[in-house]
Amino acid sequence: MTSATTHPETLMLHAGPRNDPVTGSVAVPIHQTTSYQFRDTTHAANLFALKELGNLYTRVMNPTCDALEQKLAALEGGVAAMAVSSGQAASALAVLNICHAGDNIVSSTDVYGGTWNLFAHTLSTLGITVRFVDPVDPEAFRRATDSRTRAYYAETLPNPKLAVFPIGEVASIGRSLGVPLIMDNTAAPVICKPFEHGAAIVVHSTTKYIGGHGTSIGGAIVDGGNFDWEQHADRFPMLNQPDPSYHGAIWTQAAKPLGPIAYILKARVTLQRDLGMSMSPFNAFQFIQGLETLPLRMREHSRNAASVANYLQNHPAVTRVIFPGTHTDAEQRRRTKAYLKGGLGGLVGFELKGGEAAGRHFIDALKLFYHVANIGDARSLAIHPASTTHSQLTEAEQGATGVTPGYVRLSVGIEHIDDILADLTQAFAAVSAGLAAAA
Ligand SMILES: *Cc1c(COP(=O)(O)O)cnc(C)c1O
Repeated sequence: MTSATTHPETLMLHAGPRNDPVTGSVAVPIHQTTSYQFRDTTHAANLFALKELGNLYTRVMNPTCDALEQKLAALEGGVAAMAVSSGQAASALAVLNICHAGDNIVSSTDVYGGTWNLFAHTLSTLGITVRFVDPVDPEAFRRATDSRTRAYYAETLPNPKLAVFPIGEVASIGRSLGVPLIMDNTAAPVICKPFEHGAAIVVHSTTKYIGGHGTSIGGAIVDGGNFDWEQHADRFPMLNQPDPSYHGAIWTQAAKPLGPIAYILKARVTLQRDLGMSMSPFNAFQFIQGLETLPLRMREHSRNAASVANYLQNHPAVTRVIFPGTHTDAEQRRRTKAYLKGGLGGLVGFELKGGEAAGRHFIDALKLFYHVANIGDARSLAIHPASTTHSQLTEAEQGATGVTPGYVRLSVGIEHIDDILADLTQAFAAVSAGLAAAA
């Protein structure tokens, strides 16, 4: 790309390779290959020794994935990215890259259910402890930190609470202690830029808004290049001490000629080598198509969701609307304003009078909205968490996560707003008719 634009609309169409250098193809080719012919044995040896960067084997890198990675780095304003097989792979690898047995991280309590399970159960079987703290008080992160704390972890816009995370406050506590903040920005691409507020690493489930069409599972880790791993060498032995799995490479030193990419370089050449959570080139192609229209879609998702929230606030069957724009708490309003720009995202929650029966009836009555566990599709989606995603929890546990029996979560799509509101209206009518009949 020639101009140094920062406009996401332009960046998402132009960042990365302008065309295929061999064929001139403007759309990124799907490089459906496992392997790459080396020029000669010296070339091959240089690639393996990291003296030269280039394609070795698709488990570790692939040109289609590389094109996606360049766009993702541009989207977040980071220095480099690594595509992985799912959002779950992204969060797991983001932590495993700097933690081993005996270490800990401090995580927000308000995280995706899959992340919760990974942190509370699977990482603990590997000897990595996750200390959960409530992001209502950013200082809780400081209090939970000790000399074995390797990272802080949080989501920009966690559902079901849809309370924006205090990114800058927690990032600066971390920076004062030498602890990097990893932000899961899945729910707020384009509208939140965690690196601008001090986060060090961003992870995405590209499955959601980035893909945008519900076709592919994928994830990514983006390195902000803004954290000095060398300055905190005691905290990050995995980046500052010789790596016996790679001829004693010291990643902070090995990365120097390439830029501030020690973290993501190590993730690629050791974790993808060993764990192989790679993205397929075909899925990378799908995510590139998604990224090209992501800024446009986020604008429409945000606009439609704000209209839906407004409609729900005035509806007599609704007792509470949960949306970044409708929080009454002053600190929540401040965080929304400080961290979300150009839109408030596409997620809206609400509570129905009539509890669980009304919530289930409402979902069953929807005709345009799909009933799925996904978010971020161009289509409108709905789910009743109490009877699905959160059904394994007790009612008290559900309450702690922000799920009440009548809670309905909407992922508002980019259909015409009149059609979205018409579907909600007919579903409310069906619920009140059903409840009247049952009474
Ligand atoms: C869906 C999701 C994930 C997990 O992503 P997958 O691609 O489904 O593995 C992680 N974080 C958030 C916020 C998500 O919504």
